[in-house]
Amino acid sequence: EFVEFNKFFTRIIDRFEMSKSQNVEFVRLLPEKSYYVDIDTDKLTQVIDNIISNALKYSPDGGNIRFGFTVHDNMLRVMISDDGMGIPKENVSRIFDRFYRVDRARARSMGGTGLGLAIAREMIETHGGKIWAESEEGQGTTIFFTLPYELDEAGDWE
Ligand code: ATP
Ligand code: MG
Repeated sequence: EFVEFNKFFTRIIDRFEMSKSQNVEFVRLLPEKSYYVDIDTDKLTQVIDNIISNALKYSPDGGNIRFGFTVHDNMLRVMISDDGMGIPKENVSRIFDRFYRVDRARARSMGGTGLGLAIAREMIETHGGKIWAESEEGQGTTIFFTLPYELDEAGDWE
């Protein structure tokens, strides 16, 4: 299904912003221009839901969560960035492995299974994109993913 990415992303961010109980501010850095993505909207919603849930789970009181996207090499590059506890350098790439959780004690108290980002990676790769994380311990974490886009709804083949 072709959807306009800004609209699709905004709807998900709005849903979290309305229902969140934490004192965390949402900051949107979204371009106005229309970019269309041909996606399974249920699956992409699940991916973004998990990334935002993680960001909220690890955000400190009074922190920000930043939402943005930019265009690089004919792909949309989406980023969701928090001011949370971060992830030790040596573990950053492992958060996309099945059942991997950075700290078992911390993870147990936070709930969850450790599958969210493994599923996210599978779904993003199925859509022709990539997903990765950048993190600084004690500073925060940014999750990036890419998706191929079109500039109009019809795609390339008209
Ligand atoms: P599930 O998503 O299945 O409920 P989960 O959130 O623990 O469980 P993932 O979403 O796959 O699993 O994340 C894996 C691990 O990566 C988390 O347990 C956590 O240790 C770490 N992690 C993910 N996102 C962040 C973040 N924004 N800040 C700090 N650590 C994170
Ligand atoms: Mg998760």
